[in-house]
Amino acid sequence: MRTLLDEKTVFSHIPPKADDLHKGSAGKLYLVAGSRSFRGAAVLATMGALRSGCGYVSLASTPEVCDNISHHLITPTLSVLPENAEGRISRSAAQTVLREAAGYGAMVLGCGLGLDADTEALVRGVLLHFEGPLVLDADGINALARGIDILREAPTKVILTPHEGEMARLCRSTIEAVHRDREGAARTLAKDYGVWVVLKGPHTLIASPDGQLLENTSGNSGLAKGGSGDILSGMIGSLLAQGLDPLWAAACGVYLHGAAADLTARRMSRYCMQPPDLLDDLPEIFIRNG
Ligand code: AMP
Ligand code: MG
Repeated sequence: MRTLLDEKTVFSHIPPKADDLHKGSAGKLYLVAGSRSFRGAAVLATMGALRSGCGYVSLASTPEVCDNISHHLITPTLSVLPENAEGRISRSAAQTVLREAAGYGAMVLGCGLGLDADTEALVRGVLLHFEGPLVLDADGINALARGIDILREAPTKVILTPHEGEMARLCRSTIEAVHRDREGAARTLAKDYGVWVVLKGPHTLIASPDGQLLENTSGNSGLAKGGSGDILSGMIGSLLAQGLDPLWAAACGVYLHGAAADLTARRMSRYCMQPPDLLDDLPEIFIRNG
């Protein structure tokens, strides 16, 4: 059975901001994202996280990416990691990431990392040892394509956020086969590997290992642009860090991302809207449910 997401249900899972919150108790998110070729992905994921209620967001990335993000955002803290010759995070960063992230409520790993042997080693090293809830997106997912069984060894709750292409690569299937049976693909991956799966696209599906399946009802094709998914990962990570369980962090993030984009399309059109524009419409969704 599929459950359709609606706004009332989504907001029943998002706790109001208590008056006595402080930044340390409002959720701490550790983001590992970006590389020389994909600097924007780190900015977008961090923007998504910051706009979704998290008290504290830290971006861990290469020197170039950390330098670049400072031109766009002033609130995240930065952890400058070693990079390889191609400007991707070096595998030797895994220990630093694990040590630093231990003090955080959740991690997002993957947006714009690029893919090479260093990325694969970094992602696998973190996945095997990080104990908090983890969102794995983009190249974080692609880094597992050579051996997906590692997901069973992860000591933590993992949310995977593939589009159909990433899903096909991960499951050694084809985009056509995934597209034909999106529900089956999401359910099978979730159940067989004990992970939460966000299979993106129009009507994004969210599958949990215990067999629940949610279908998103918000969003529009104005989101079909590079960078939309990076913002979503930051939003889901932010909600995870604030204590939502993986199913509802994923579901609320997906719904809010789409609902904001629906408002953006009204004022900017599906043609002209750009992924970061939706973050200007997100507050309206919170205000109307306040
Ligand atoms: P990514 O492919 O990682 O950039 O993620 C794209 C994001 O935009 C996901 O949240 C998708 O669900 C969303 N998206 C892309 N195309 C559409 C569409 N045609 N209708 C609704 N949402 C879409
Ligand atoms: Mg993506």
